[in-house]
Amino acid sequence: MAERAPLGLLGGTFDPIHHAHLRLAEEAADALGLAQVRLVPAGQPPHRGTPMSSPEHRLAMVRLATAGNPRLEVDPAEVASPRASYTVLTLERLRAELGPRRPLVLLLGADAFAGLASWHRWREVFALAHVAVANRPGHAPHARRWPAALDPELDAECTPRLGSDPAVLAAAPAGHIVPFDMTPLAISATRIRELLGAGLSARYLLPGSVLDYIGKHSLYR
Ligand code: ATP
Repeated sequence: MAERAPLGLLGGTFDPIHHAHLRLAEEAADALGLAQVRLVPAGQPPHRGTPMSSPEHRLAMVRLATAGNPRLEVDPAEVASPRASYTVLTLERLRAELGPRRPLVLLLGADAFAGLASWHRWREVFALAHVAVANRPGHAPHARRWPAALDPELDAECTPRLGSDPAVLAAAPAGHIVPFDMTPLAISATRIRELLGAGLSARYLLPGSVLDYIGKHSLYR
């Protein structure tokens, strides 16, 4: 048996962090029995253009959004690193920190999961962590709808790992894939940036403390 309850990991650009990120972390903690979820803002995300806000601003917003919730931790290491932010490297670092037996669960929205086979050293992810896939409105596939529309390579690697019972996550340190349903929230950072860029309100899509920070630092104008 594993030594302690699984630790969740939620990476993202968080440009800016919003309520769907926070519900994803919170609902995953409940649904999957996670002791905590560590949010890891990417410094330099390799799969996309340069974020609009600096790594320091994005980290500060993640800290504000998670303040007061003891289940959510913030991991600043990718922001502090000059290297590109590859998830496999972060997982290796966490493995070294936590030891070989602690279950680690990488949390992904369905859109991020669908692109997994394009990640740096992606097959190694499963030796380092479990993967839990959340539904996301407008994005297919949710892992439960396999095998429809999946990348064949991703499908071949993932289908044998697919389980439905979150109990498997506590019983091994890594290697299983578990889909879970969160409250569907059609919120994206892209939409929030569009609203703010057009001078429109993004209120209630993200925490007020984060919106105040954005206003104070004139971000996304
Ligand atoms: P952008 O619009 O800039 O691409 P985003 O809103 O998708 O940003 P990211 O920081 O890229 O946010 O996402 C981090 C993680 O959170 C990813 O795994 C993503 O799939 C997940 N996620 C983001 N928004 C949602 C949502 N509304 N529902 C479920 N998962 C989500």
